Amino acid sequence: PDHVLTDWLLQAANEYPEHTAIQFLGRSIPYQELLSHVYRLAHLWQKLGVKQGDRIGIMLPNTPQAVIGYFATLLLGAIVVQINPLYQEKELAHQLSDSGTEILLCLDLIYPRVKKVLPKTHLKTLLITSLKDYLPPLKSWLYPFMQKQPKIDYDESTLLLAKELEQVRDTPIQSPLPSNDSLAILQYTGGTTGLSKGAMLTHRNLVVNVRQIHAWCYRFQRGDIRILGVMPFFHVYGMTTVMNFAIYLAGTMILVPKFEPLQLLRAIHRYHPNVFPGAPTIYASLLRHPQVNKYDLSSIQACISGSAPLDRELQDQFEALTGGILTEGYGLTEASPVTHINLIWDRKRSHTIGLPLPDTDCRVVDPETGTELMPGQQGELHVKGPQVMKGYWNQPGETKSALRDGWLATGDIVKMDESGYFEVVDRKKDMIITNGYNVFPREVEEVLLQHEAVEEAAVIGVPDLKRGELIRAVVVPVQGKAIAEKDLEHFCRQHLAAYKIPRQIEFRSQLPKSAIGKVLRRVMKEEALRTIE
Ligand code: ATP
Repeated sequence: PDHVLTDWLLQAANEYPEHTAIQFLGRSIPYQELLSHVYRLAHLWQKLGVKQGDRIGIMLPNTPQAVIGYFATLLLGAIVVQINPLYQEKELAHQLSDSGTEILLCLDLIYPRVKKVLPKTHLKTLLITSLKDYLPPLKSWLYPFMQKQPKIDYDESTLLLAKELEQVRDTPIQSPLPSNDSLAILQYTGGTTGLSKGAMLTHRNLVVNVRQIHAWCYRFQRGDIRILGVMPFFHVYGMTTVMNFAIYLAGTMILVPKFEPLQLLRAIHRYHPNVFPGAPTIYASLLRHPQVNKYDLSSIQACISGSAPLDRELQDQFEALTGGILTEGYGLTEASPVTHINLIWDRKRSHTIGLPLPDTDCRVVDPETGTELMPGQQGELHVKGPQVMKGYWNQPGETKSALRDGWLATGDIVKMDESGYFEVVDRKKDMIITNGYNVFPREVEEVLLQHEAVEEAAVIGVPDLKRGELIRAVVVPVQGKAIAEKDLEHFCRQHLAAYKIPRQIEFRSQLPKSAIGKVLRRVMKEEALRTIE
C-alpha cells in the first residue's frame, strides 16, 4: 500500500528484464533497457541540480522519451508537469509559469513555440528530442537532431546538456526516495471554467487508482498484459490506464504517438494488444473505417471506454468486430482519474458508468442545497476515496470549493439506481436554461444520433433575449446522406418535449474535439458568442 510508482518499474525490470516494456514504431524496448535510460536521465537531472519537489515539464506525444522522462522525474522525487504538445503560447505560458517548471523535455517540433514563451516562464533548461530519434542511446537524443537542423538556435544550457549526457551513468540513483504521500504530478485540467488548474496528485493517488481498476476489470497475470497506448500520456486517463497499468503488471505498452484510425488498425494487427483503453470517438472511428475488415483485431480482449458517454450500439458493434469486451467507466482528472467502471465480466447495462471502485464512496446531492438525494434522483456526484487529489496547486480558493471534507464535487449530474449503478446525465455547467426549463444537452444529442443520417451531434445553449438561452444543435451528417433541417426538427418532435427541441440546427463536416477525442461544446459555444457579438 505504501508503494511509489517507481517501485513498480524497479520490480518489473528485476523480474522481467528481457520482457518488452515499450513497443514503438517497430522497436522493442525491454524493461532492463528502459530502466537504464531512466537512470541516465535521472543522473543528468541530478547534475543539473534537480531535487525533491522541483517541477519538470514533459511536453511529448506517446513516445519512449515520455515514459523515460516521467519515471526519471519521479525517481528523484520531483514532480511531473504534463503538457499537451498541441498547446499554443497562451496555454503553454500559463502552465509553465503557474507550475514553476524549470526544466522542460519537449519535442523538436515544439521548440519554436516554447522559445516564444521563455521570458514568461521560469525555465532554465530545455531537453529537446525528436520523434525520429525515438530510441538511440540517450546521449544521441540531441546530437543527430542538432546536426540535421542546425537552424534552431539552442541556448547555452541546452548545448551544455549534450556534453553532459555523454558522461552520465545508468546506475541506480542515490537520492532520498519520495514518500507515498509526495506529489507525483501536477495534472492541469482542461480549463473549461477559466484558467486551467493544476490538480495535485500524489504517488498514493496514482498507485491506488491502478490497483482499484485492476480489481474491477482485469484478470491478467503479471507479464501477460499488452496495452494499446493511443490515449495520450499527457492526459491523466492514458497515464493511469496505459503507462502506470502496464508498469504495474510488468506488461507491454504499445505506443501510438498520434491518433489516426489507419495507423491504429495497423498497430493492433501487428502488435496484438489484448487491452485497449479508449474513448467512444476512437472506437467509432475504427469501426467505421472503410478498411477495417482488412485487419486482424482478434487479439483484443478488454476495452474500457471513458471520458464521454458510450453509445450502446457502438459498444455492441465494437464487441462484434473484435470479439473482446468493451465496458464503460468514468472519471475525472481530480480523481487520478477513475472512480467508476462497469465490471468487465458483468452483464451489459446500457447507459451506466458502473459501480464505484473499491474504497470509493459516492453521494448524489442537490446542486443548489447540498442535500443528499435518494436513488433514482438526479443530482451532482460527489466522490471520496484514496484516488482523490490533494487540491489544486496554488489555488486555495478553488480547492475549497472543489473539496469539502474530503468529498470531491465532480460537476457532473448523475443518478444512481437501486442496485448502485450510476448513470451520467450530463455536466452541470453544460445545462441549458431555456424559457425557465432545464435541458441537458446529452438527452437531445442522443435523440439526434438516433436519426439514420446523423453521424455526430452536439447541443449547446446560445444567449437569447426572449428565452434566456436557445437550443442549438450542431450536426455532422453521415457521409453521402443529406438531411433537411425541417426533417430533423420533426424527428426531434417525435421524441422530445417541445421545450427541448433545437431551435437552430447547424450542419458541419466535423465537430471540435479535445486531444482525447472529447467533443468540445465549450468551443462551439464560444464561436456562437463571437458571432452574436
Ligand atoms: P475541465 O475539468 O477543464 O472542465 P474536463 O472536465 O474535460 O475539463 P477531464 O478531467 O478530462 O476534464 O474529464 C472529466 C469529465 O469527463 C467528467 O467530469 C465527465 O463530465 C466526463 N466523463 C468522463 N467519463 C464519462 C462517461 N463515461 N460518460 C460521460 N461523461 C464522462
